[in-house]
Amino acid sequence: MSAQAATTEDLAVVIGLEVHVQLETDTKIFCGCSTEPAEEPNTRTCPVCLGLPGALPVLNEGAVEAAVKVGKAIDATIPETTRFHRKNYFYPDLPKNFQITQYDEPICQDGELEISHEGEHRVVGIERAHLEEDPGSLRHVGGSIDTAEYTLVDYNRAGTPLLEIVTEPDFRAPVEVRSFLAKLTEVLEYLAVFDAERDGSLRVDANISIVDAADVDDETGEIPVSVLEDANRTEVKNISSHKAAEQALAYEVTRQKNAISRGREVAQETRHWDEAKGVTVSMRSKEAEKDYRYFEEADLPPLEVADWKDTIEIPELPDARRERFREEYGLGREAADKLTSTKQVADFFERVAADFAPDLAATWVADELLGELNYRDMEITDVEDRLDEFHRLVELVATEEITAKNAREVVLRTMLDGSDDLGERPAPDDVVEAEGLGKTDEGEIEAAVTAAIEENPDAVDDFHDGDDGAINFLVGQVMQATGGSADPGTVNELLRAELES
Ligand code: ADP
Ligand code: ZN
Ligand code: MG
Repeated sequence: MSAQAATTEDLAVVIGLEVHVQLETDTKIFCGCSTEPAEEPNTRTCPVCLGLPGALPVLNEGAVEAAVKVGKAIDATIPETTRFHRKNYFYPDLPKNFQITQYDEPICQDGELEISHEGEHRVVGIERAHLEEDPGSLRHVGGSIDTAEYTLVDYNRAGTPLLEIVTEPDFRAPVEVRSFLAKLTEVLEYLAVFDAERDGSLRVDANISIVDAADVDDETGEIPVSVLEDANRTEVKNISSHKAAEQALAYEVTRQKNAISRGREVAQETRHWDEAKGVTVSMRSKEAEKDYRYFEEADLPPLEVADWKDTIEIPELPDARRERFREEYGLGREAADKLTSTKQVADFFERVAADFAPDLAATWVADELLGELNYRDMEITDVEDRLDEFHRLVELVATEEITAKNAREVVLRTMLDGSDDLGERPAPDDVVEAEGLGKTDEGEIEAAVTAAIEENPDAVDDFHDGDDGAINFLVGQVMQATGGSADPGTVNELLRAELES
């Protein structure tokens, strides 16, 4: 953009992302070292990930499989052959002085992901996704990168498999980036290739520039390639959460627009997001591709994925599943969203819905179970080994063996909280028995009804004098006598029948 002063209304925001996600594998991408975090630095290492002379990389099949799954999920082209390159640069976290990555033949090309923001759906193009190894990590002791006394290096992370997902510059606002990252995370978790809870599992480099609003096509929102190429952009690094991405980009939008409106040019550079201060700071001028002297990784032969890729399957994805839940089970939007929030929740709901009425299944999974879990800061994965027990709980309600109220307030809560007598994780039937919740049989309820009428002549008189509310007192007496296990509606009917006979 020209350095001519412009007002901010004439300007449009352009953002493109490079998202690094850690693929969930047991071992590193080119050696057998574990990817589990370790307490001690430099204990998850071997000659390969330490870059010792003569050590040779062996590609992890699981990492390739995970990348193919992602490729299929984003509708990417997966070529017949894919290849690895060396990206050369010197930095203490990179033991070989080059990173094994992919260059002109990445595993995924030309994909897309649909995002929705404020009810509007948009497709974000994905230029490519490629496999690479993570470098190690540095610990600056006694300060930050420029004030530390000295720096320690830990190669435990070195060689962790990453998939770098590069989007087209299709975002027009920071908030869209947040929607995209949420959507991407959801898809990756459905594919079971990613763990959002893992430290450092998501890192984002965000590219941002400001162009003339007049260059944006009113209808399609498209911007000519020449405009995109000519725009001076910054690349913001060190973003590790959805929220940080939105904040860092909002900061950059203001900073760049301010510069332009004052007639200054935005420098093409790499900037660092300072989370604590909430600002981006200049790091260095942006490196060009030639700085990396890419050349083919001769220690890894080209990888043929032609036949293999067709055998790799992916599960139904969240959007499709949400749609199907609404149609097949007649769920509302909110329930369908909740029940597809993770694959585990959706799978469990379908198991319950297969045996009981869909609306009962939806209430018990979406409202009761997820509600109680959420209240305890727990996830469905924390009770995954007990899903049979929760299924049984729904069965107890469906067959009217216990009341919904007791199921929720006593059985479910005791199952999650445990009790002194029943231990930490009691089964539903044990709670029902210990608490005496089994629905009292008809005869017992009738006896309690008769007793309540005999023992409370005042309430009976009131009822006969036209005070209909008096019946509630009698219902209460019967409920108490039956330990809360009778159905209040039934008790009410029985009382009326007996009082009016
Ligand atoms: P580089 O040569 O710097 O690696 P690429 O064309 O590979 O550039 O793009 C890197 C990232 O920059 C991509 O995520 C892309 O969407 C984004 N990008 C490209 N042009 C722009 C622009 N004008 N403004 C913001 N982001 C852009
Ligand atoms: Zn290793
Ligand atoms: Mg690039």
